[in-house]
Amino acid sequence: MSFELPEVRNPGLMPFRFRLLPGGRAVVVTDLAGRFAILSREEFGDFVAGTLPDDHPAAARVRNAGLVRSAEGETDTVAALRRRSEHLMRGPGLHILILTLRCNQACVYCHASRKGEGAEGVDMSQQTAARVLDVVFASPSPDLTLEFQGGEPTLNFEVLRFVVEEASRRASASGKRVFFSLVSNLSPLDQEKIDFLVDHGVMVCSSIDGPAALHDRNRRWSSRSAHQATLARIEEFRRAYAKRGLDPELAFVNLLATVSRASLAQPEALVDEYVRLGSKVVHLRSLNPFGMGKKIWAKEGYTAEEYLAFYRRAFDHIVKLNRAGVEIMEKIAALALTRILTDDDPNYMDLRSPCGAGIGQLAYGYDGKVYTCDEGRMVAAMGDPMFCIGDVQAGGYADIIRHPGVRSLCVASCLECLPGCSDCAYAPYCGVCPVYNYVQEGDLVARWPQNDRCRIQMGIADLLFERLQEPGLEPLLRRWTINRDRSSVYRRMMPLTTPVTCP
Ligand code: SF4
Ligand code: SF4
Repeated sequence: MSFELPEVRNPGLMPFRFRLLPGGRAVVVTDLAGRFAILSREEFGDFVAGTLPDDHPAAARVRNAGLVRSAEGETDTVAALRRRSEHLMRGPGLHILILTLRCNQACVYCHASRKGEGAEGVDMSQQTAARVLDVVFASPSPDLTLEFQGGEPTLNFEVLRFVVEEASRRASASGKRVFFSLVSNLSPLDQEKIDFLVDHGVMVCSSIDGPAALHDRNRRWSSRSAHQATLARIEEFRRAYAKRGLDPELAFVNLLATVSRASLAQPEALVDEYVRLGSKVVHLRSLNPFGMGKKIWAKEGYTAEEYLAFYRRAFDHIVKLNRAGVEIMEKIAALALTRILTDDDPNYMDLRSPCGAGIGQLAYGYDGKVYTCDEGRMVAAMGDPMFCIGDVQAGGYADIIRHPGVRSLCVASCLECLPGCSDCAYAPYCGVCPVYNYVQEGDLVARWPQNDRCRIQMGIADLLFERLQEPGLEPLLRRWTINRDRSSVYRRMMPLTTPVTCP
């Protein structure tokens, strides 16, 4: 819907961006730091013309959102921008280790790098892991998260064990704080390994794509039920946490649902499965094209509009459950709402400016090659080393971080400089992915109107602002932004990484 900015005649305005919501009646106006006001079209016209009476309810909304110039407001905006940009001063804190390319399951949407369970020469060796830790501990970040991924990382458990023990030792010696996160289908774990993970504070993230039929259709495991196996392990983790007296509200396996074409028709059933499992969070992940062959995409993929129709149904079902007293939220919406409704920044690598590539995270292949992020590694698995920025066997942290690829991705993901994003009302809550753009469009910078990732993010933001206008819904959605401190279990709760990195 086209909507032109009325002539600006009010000299007392702070810099702002605006968007007419679908339906054409309400306008979202945001400031540089993400504070916002929702105005009717008429109120918006009066706001920019300077004819909004001081005692009008909308005038209070624009003042509270810092959209009207005042000495105090400017100081607040600067402080909010500084808080939102703190990640720029930290250095890479998230380090993703690909312990193996082997996997015992074969998901229908899996990327090209996966190898069969018995494949040889695709496990990270202990010697390579030690070199990886040299680079990790050279990062200036005082907090380091080591995230184990694969393949199925627990198939190389001895190296996982080595990294946890050795990193803990180096953390004590260096004064840095180290956190561990495991992304796994859980099926290869036995009791001894579960005990090790729980005793060493390793946060665990797994996948449940929905009810058994949907999950097992997506995540193939010879003739066995992957759904049943994952649920059995989750139960074992529950028992292990309970045995140690840990609060079940804080100690639990994080779950993620990857949305395939088959999921699109059943958002309510997917959410209900999470409720049945006692999960308080549904993390919906749309498919991305990294490393996925064209044939697979044709069978499993979908358009942004199809995904958004699914997402709206899932979201509204969750809200209906909340109204009936069921405690559950959607993770991507919760992250966006945290930025929209609070001053906190969840520092989610894919939804920040610039994105986390190189400056917030690094990914290490099983062979010691270093990438800007795991998605960059997946592109390398397709035969294109564009996002490889070093090798732990051949160089140190300084060589890696100074690689021109890191600078290129910073520039390409800086929303404030990108056509399309720099004047988008949702820029304070958003982020672009140069690796996605490169895979989809052959360029680090997207051509916006066709970019599905942008359309999905814009559609989700539209949905949130539409719902925030509904009577009584804001307090309910505000509850989604409350993060409980899980440090008693994991020493400190770290944000899980990109939606595209959990299996
Ligand atoms: S990616 Fe799309 S939604 Fe996000 S800031 Fe850019 S134009 Fe806006
Ligand atoms: S947004 Fe894209 S390029 Fe940036 S860190 Fe995430 S996956 Fe990598």
